[in-house]
Amino acid sequence: MKNNWSNTKAIKYIKHYEKLGHSKDMALRVYTTRLLGRNPELVLHGGGNTSVKTTVRDVDGKNYKVLCVKGSGWDMAEIEPAGLPAVKLEPLLAFKNKKYLSDEDMVAYQKKNLIDIKSPNPSVETFLHAFLPFKFVDHTHSDAIMNVTNRPNGVKFCKKIFGKKVSIVPYVMPGFGLAKKIQEVYSKNPNINCLILLNHGIFTFADDAKTSYNLMIKYDNNNIFAKILRSEIPCEKIYEDEFVLSFYDVKPQKKIHALVIPKGKYVNLDHFTNDASDEEIVALIKGINTVAKKLGISIDVGGGYRTLSNIGSDGGQEVPHLHFHLFGGEKVGKMIEKND
Ligand code: 5GP
Repeated sequence: MKNNWSNTKAIKYIKHYEKLGHSKDMALRVYTTRLLGRNPELVLHGGGNTSVKTTVRDVDGKNYKVLCVKGSGWDMAEIEPAGLPAVKLEPLLAFKNKKYLSDEDMVAYQKKNLIDIKSPNPSVETFLHAFLPFKFVDHTHSDAIMNVTNRPNGVKFCKKIFGKKVSIVPYVMPGFGLAKKIQEVYSKNPNINCLILLNHGIFTFADDAKTSYNLMIKYDNNNIFAKILRSEIPCEKIYEDEFVLSFYDVKPQKKIHALVIPKGKYVNLDHFTNDASDEEIVALIKGINTVAKKLGISIDVGGGYRTLSNIGSDGGQEVPHLHFHLFGGEKVGKMIEKND
């Protein structure tokens, strides 16, 4: 999925909403909610919701901690601050130990704790958002996730694909019961940054809007190397095993210019180091050396080579799938261009 975050746009949102009297938190919540809502792969027919935990001043002049969560009747793609009603957070958190709450009582309690009673009804997933201790919580009914979860071996598949920062939650009807289930799952595994709810969708969370959004669209299935891995685009293959693929770069920068990539869906080295299994990490490092040997440029058979991985925008990464370049077959020159 394409990452549509832009720092320039984010600043524009902050400035625009500041003029209308809204906080930076609210401006960024509106921005990434729209990004998610405008992505048809993530949000179908109004499915999904988002929230931000922030502070607002009520008419009594007091500041209250609130959860601004999507209200019913609002489309994520066109959300405005009015579509994210503020519910007092303390009364929501006071129900953390409550065992049961009927849907009617839940709706009434949420309404009772609105800062502005004229607001739309807060989402049925309000308690779930409140119980996750992160500033930004994003929820979509991602097509890609549904594809994986709605199959017989859904759980096994999910674990394989999403690794250890994810907990997988069996289906529970949205409402207070689901919020309690999520609270239980999260308290057992507080290192997670993502929850996959079987036959329902995905929640990501972080203390900043960009990270939570990035987690949601972590991997762009349409990047060039993903297409090469699916054999939708040809490549001049050098080596392949269970975890690794290597092929020649289409625009060689040196006499020999190869690329080595993991087969798993990892955006860059940071993502790979955090989420890949030890087996995948070992396979990739060994794969680089195997390819160098095959190409006759490793120290034992040739004159040596350089390996390089560009990471993120400062690193100059163009293709958002982890790759190592291998340069050789001639002297490759200085390490890196110096700034003037
Ligand atoms: P980056 O700048 O992301 O580190 O490197 C991406 C590399 O992928 C570039 O060197 C570019 O030439 C190479 N590349 C881009 N598209 C293709 C393609 O379709 N096939 C192959 N083999 N290499 C590609």
